[in-house]
Amino acid sequence: MLYAYTLLFIGAALMEVMGMIPQEMKSAGITIEALFSKYFGDEDMHFIYYHIRRTTLITILHCCIPLLYCLGLNWVEPDLSEFIPVELVWLLVIVSVVMALIGCALGYWWHRNKWANHPIAVSLASYNQSWRDVAANINLEYRRIEKFVNNLGCNTVIVTESWIIKTGVHTVSVGHQRSSHLVVSKTEEHHLSMEGPTTSQYLTILVNCVDSSSFSIRLNALQYGELKEKLQAPLREARGVIIRQSLGDQFIVAFEKQVEQNGYYDLPSSSPQPESCIGCLQVMSDVKLCKMCADDTDGECRQCFCRPMWCLSCMAKWFASRQDQRRPEEWLMGVAPCPMCRSQFCALDVLRVRTSNNVQA
Ligand SMILES: [Zn+2]
Ligand SMILES: [Zn+2]
Ligand SMILES: [Zn+2]
Repeated sequence: MLYAYTLLFIGAALMEVMGMIPQEMKSAGITIEALFSKYFGDEDMHFIYYHIRRTTLITILHCCIPLLYCLGLNWVEPDLSEFIPVELVWLLVIVSVVMALIGCALGYWWHRNKWANHPIAVSLASYNQSWRDVAANINLEYRRIEKFVNNLGCNTVIVTESWIIKTGVHTVSVGHQRSSHLVVSKTEEHHLSMEGPTTSQYLTILVNCVDSSSFSIRLNALQYGELKEKLQAPLREARGVIIRQSLGDQFIVAFEKQVEQNGYYDLPSSSPQPESCIGCLQVMSDVKLCKMCADDTDGECRQCFCRPMWCLSCMAKWFASRQDQRRPEEWLMGVAPCPMCRSQFCALDVLRVRTSNNVQA
């Protein structure tokens, strides 16, 4: 019982400290953020103050974890001295109490002078301005919709008009776009599946800041293009680093290969000739959705009666956008609604249009 409790507690404590909270607990609202949301305030309105309060409370609570363990131990095994020497128990209790006190003292110290001693405030103060002015500027930009936000594990990367921000469990790092430069320093490949169209690539990007301490961010290569769009700070790739085609682009290639195998839809000569694709207006529409994957009444796909209005690459992008973005390996097996009539279709139901003109050609 004692060992089971200890193992379980250490496992849970490690997950909490490293921010690896299971999705089920997050959706059930059993996280520190959800439980103390009233105290933390509104992240959208007061971003910096929210994270100052959040990191302070989390640091204090994490310092109290050993004390919680001791209290639980007393409850699980009231007669501890049978298992562990009394001196050791006392040592454990003293260390736990000291750690909890250190956590509280730290929280109190940070809170003094209206949070001016908090590490976030200290790092904002390095911008030669009052940290409150810097915080107000970040809060203002965070409220706008046009920002890059990417969540990976326990870290969130935010890029606003002038700031690059990374929030973690205990820390928040901030760099000003004007005085930072970024370097893609490392890539990792994660093979998700043997048959899937893709593997995922993750990028580690160093944010070198002149005014404040540098930090690194990590993101899926899929988001790289979007990040570059929002970035004004210079960004380069370290020598030897090769960023693969984004997952979206790789998916389009795989989708098009599938469509090539599906065969053709012969446009009846009586129907109007295809016009330009309504997705991109760049090329002629050249695909038609026809239920091919099963008999008319079988399966979840439905027959679509829309005339060809989309090009293959726009259809592939539409299809990809309707899939679970976390599971690119399953995209090709997925279904999506027709962009016009909402009839469900799969990758097998997309046919290239053949008009009587290009049959002759
Ligand atoms: Zn198009
Ligand atoms: Zn349709
Ligand atoms: Zn289908």
